[in-house]
Amino acid sequence: MIIPLLQGLKLTLKFFFTKKITMRYPEEKWEVAPRWRGRHFLTRFESGKIRCVACMLCATACPAECIRIVAAVEPDNRKYPEIYEIDLGRCIFCGHCVEVCPRHAIEMTPVYEISEYSREALILDKEALMTPPQERYVSKERKAG
Ligand code: SF4
Ligand code: SF4
Repeated sequence: MIIPLLQGLKLTLKFFFTKKITMRYPEEKWEVAPRWRGRHFLTRFESGKIRCVACMLCATACPAECIRIVAAVEPDNRKYPEIYEIDLGRCIFCGHCVEVCPRHAIEMTPVYEISEYSREALILDKEALMTPPQERYVSKERKAG
C-alpha cells in the first residue's frame, strides 16, 4: 500500500523540479513560426486601393472551394472584387491562394485565434479581410469588454 504511494510522490517530486512546458493561455501565448499560415489578409496599395484584381486564381486553386469572389470593373477598366469572402470554417490553411496570387494581394498572418460561436461568423467578408487581423481582434475584444 505504501509503495505505490511513494512511487506516486517520487513522480510528483520529479516533475516539480523539471522545466515547465505548459503556459497560462490565454494570458501567455505561443510565438508561432515566421511561416505560420494563419488568418488571411487582403493587402492594399499605399493609396488605400485593394491590390486584388479579381483574377479568380486563388478561388480556382483553393482545394476547399471556400473563396467567393464577385468581380466588378472601375471606370478606368480596372477589375476589383466587389465581393471577396473566405469561409474559414472550410479553409484548410494550405496557403495555395497566397502562392498563386500574381499581385501579392493576399497574405496569411500569424493570427491563430479565429474561433467563433457560429459558422456564419467564420465567413470573412472583404472589409474584415482588409482589416489588419490584430486590429480586428483587439476591437472585437474591446467590444466584448
Ligand atoms: S488557405 Fe487553402 S483552403 Fe484556405 S482559402 Fe487559401 S487555398 Fe483555400
Ligand atoms: S487575391 Fe490575388 S489571385 Fe485572388 S483574385 Fe485577387 S489578385 Fe487574383
